[in-house]
Amino acid sequence: MSETHTLTTYDAILDAITTNNGSDGSAEIHNPATGELVGTYQVHDENDLNDAVAAARAAQPDWEAQGDHARCELLNKFADAIEAAAEPLARLLSQEQGKPLNGPNARFEVGACAAWLRATASFESPDYTAVDDDITATVHYRALGVVGAIGPWNWPMMITIWQIAPALRMGNTVVVKPSGYTPLSVSALVAIANTVLPKDVLHIVTGSGGVGAALTTHPGIDKIMFTGSTETGKKIIEASAGNITRLTLELGGNDAAVVLDDVDPQAIAEDLFWGAFINTGQTCAAAKRIYVPDAIYDEVAEALVAIAKKMPMGNGLDENNVLGPLQNKAQFDIVDGLVKAAKDGGARVLVGGDPDYDAPGYFYPVTIVADIDPDNPLVAEEQFGPAVPLIRYSELDQAIAWANSLDVGLGASVWSADAGKAREVAARLQAGTVWINKHGAVDPRVPFGGIKSSGYGVEFGTEGLKGLAYPQAINT
Ligand code: NDP
Repeated sequence: MSETHTLTTYDAILDAITTNNGSDGSAEIHNPATGELVGTYQVHDENDLNDAVAAARAAQPDWEAQGDHARCELLNKFADAIEAAAEPLARLLSQEQGKPLNGPNARFEVGACAAWLRATASFESPDYTAVDDDITATVHYRALGVVGAIGPWNWPMMITIWQIAPALRMGNTVVVKPSGYTPLSVSALVAIANTVLPKDVLHIVTGSGGVGAALTTHPGIDKIMFTGSTETGKKIIEASAGNITRLTLELGGNDAAVVLDDVDPQAIAEDLFWGAFINTGQTCAAAKRIYVPDAIYDEVAEALVAIAKKMPMGNGLDENNVLGPLQNKAQFDIVDGLVKAAKDGGARVLVGGDPDYDAPGYFYPVTIVADIDPDNPLVAEEQFGPAVPLIRYSELDQAIAWANSLDVGLGASVWSADAGKAREVAARLQAGTVWINKHGAVDPRVPFGGIKSSGYGVEFGTEGLKGLAYPQAINT
């Protein structure tokens, strides 16, 4: 461990991020599993935002001038610093977001932050030269300037890294605006980054409501990286008109999983379960509606229910748990309302659907719903929580038509024992990514992004780097 790793304990990290750095007022964050106070954070206003953007603008030319190699080295050092603080970061994330330490949750998310930084530093530069008898054109991807990074509360650390790693690599400076539900986790990440990055390259402004909107209309911002709901995405598109601000929009999804009749239900059940319930269902690219053929409907349902019954849910700091609470009351109410709509529509609840409204925390039990109408709200709307509908089908064409019928297209999956058949079906699904025999497995090397109302622009890989730069052609 190098001596530059100054933020390696929980107390040191919390001290660093709860310091008053300029504006009046602070707000409290409570653990969604227990209601206990996790910490306080500074609520920033437009003056703080203006200061952050001005400082980031002033720092940008020097940052770009450092060159690609130096910036990649610093991304790797940032990854080292995260790894040196991995356990306290995971504990903070677990307490603020609610996700358990164990399973594909808090420790997994912190690990992914370091892995994504290292991968982003390793991609080949997108620069190239086009030569023929008449011209030599050198295309150099130049930094855009200052990037605003606005993120959600479900994977707050990892999604922030997805936004800032390519932005920094391409020579931009960044102002981060985390969700008002998870400012501590993201502030911790930024504080750790700032133990290795030059001064003023990376800033954070925190607070709910106005400050995010102010960032999207700020004339000093050249690009917005946004991950969040489609509704907020539409507002950001409108806000971008004033300054012709570039956008990458990773918006809501309602991913279909299409199961074919040749699978062994027992063999796919665990992967299908986690494809739907990873992060307790609070994942953009999770399987949110599962289409199952008549011939194996009951077997698939039984296999999923058996797994659901043995997955422990509870306080994230308890090592036994792999499922946690909903992050906030608003999301709990959305999930609860959609399950009620399913029951009202005559669907059968196979497991769950009966939260204890008086117990502490926003816990909603893992819920699997069968024999539901294909247009019930639990199917047609994004639940973003642990309640998944199994829709019965008899004709594959019908299942594909239902899968494509919604105005979103982030991910989808096909489950089959026949690789060729699975690819054929995959090619007919309307989504940015189609997984085969898995769901939601993102990879830093593979472009990821949605179509339709799930947004535009892609992240990851060299394609992702291009989104944080403009191609300047020097044509001789
Ligand atoms: P929201 O759209 O509510 O919020 C996202 C961020 O936008 C927050 O930081 C929020 O800040 C900020 N914000 C709110 N209003 C504005 C505004 N007018 N201008 C600028 N910023 C604003 O989304 P959630 O946090 O609820 O996230 C859940 C949604 O995100 C789901 O729909 C999910 O599918 C989607 N998502 C998509 C992913 C993808 O890769 N496509 C990945 C993860 C989630 P504040 O808290 O201050 O309101």
